[in-house]
Amino acid sequence: MSYTNFVNKEDIIYEEDLVSEEDNTEIYITKNITVKTIIHSLTPLEYPPTSEEGTAIIYHVEGWQNIEMAFEDVQYSMGLPCGQNKTTCTYLGDIAVIKKDRTCHGVKICEFADPELREMEHKSVDPNSDLRLRMSKELSTDNVNYNTFAKYLAAYKTECRYMRDGVQCNGKPILKCLRRHDETVPPSYFIGCTGWRMNEKFHRFISIKENVDLNLLQQLLNGLYEGETDEPVNNCYSVFSNSTKRIYCPHPHRSENTITQGKLMKKLCEVRFSKLIPVDIKSCPFVILISKGIHTHPPPPPNQVPVTIRTRLQELIHQANNDNTDVTPTHIITGK
Ligand SMILES: [Zn+2]
Ligand SMILES: [Zn+2]
Ligand SMILES: [Zn+2]
Ligand SMILES: [Zn+2]
Repeated sequence: MSYTNFVNKEDIIYEEDLVSEEDNTEIYITKNITVKTIIHSLTPLEYPPTSEEGTAIIYHVEGWQNIEMAFEDVQYSMGLPCGQNKTTCTYLGDIAVIKKDRTCHGVKICEFADPELREMEHKSVDPNSDLRLRMSKELSTDNVNYNTFAKYLAAYKTECRYMRDGVQCNGKPILKCLRRHDETVPPSYFIGCTGWRMNEKFHRFISIKENVDLNLLQQLLNGLYEGETDEPVNNCYSVFSNSTKRIYCPHPHRSENTITQGKLMKKLCEVRFSKLIPVDIKSCPFVILISKGIHTHPPPPPNQVPVTIRTRLQELIHQANNDNTDVTPTHIITGK
């Protein structure tokens, strides 16, 4: 399953096509708000396009179970400065609407973020763009150096919990090996504690499975790691929603010859959103989302299963139950 705007192909109307058709004139949404682009959509959009001079998405909500989906499915975090007032929508034929104003809250990126990511701006999201592919590539963990760095960081951050006479052990992490004189079993390596004495239990113990470079780990633990100076350090492609509770990037990073975790930093944004909801939604089944400005950050990752997908999933599960097939929610989600 790829992260796309969850609409059918025929429900997508391309901004570029419209700009040329519409002669670049200002379109009044309310007496005080103009846009230059109008997009019609029958379904919610996760990444509503924006533009410097304003883009309005007109959602046709007839038959929707919940009109809030138009806004809840949006992956941009929205917040202060914000406001709400009642006004008249010129575009929908001078009807009374509630207008809610919000500001884009950007994203969080790692202090070791790639310069490309730091400087990134966007108006719309192409789900197949290189960047998104690289972001998911960044998360792949079948890389020996990466795993070794991660192991080292874990060891470094794990204090030894052993208590001796009420005092916590201050031993350092050390690479150890468990083996037999008769060599009937292959040696097994683990990260132990320099404070350990024979027959003491509950010191630091971190097992090492495959995909770890023991030589590199040993260098790191002994402070003998010299790094690879030819490779750029700022190469992180992680992007988090502004609402993340994380303080650090989950990936190990190299800063000269030390391996460390990157702090997450806010990337701010000044795109303004306005949501317009008719007071009498029954007689006017449209809601409007206006975006103005250019996002000065990479697209936020999809951090929640959009409501539309959830609804579809429920329908599929329901259908699967009725059809009595062996389709489980896991099958549906992973496509396996
Ligand atoms: Zn329309
Ligand atoms: Zn990072
Ligand atoms: Zn210890
Ligand atoms: Zn933004």
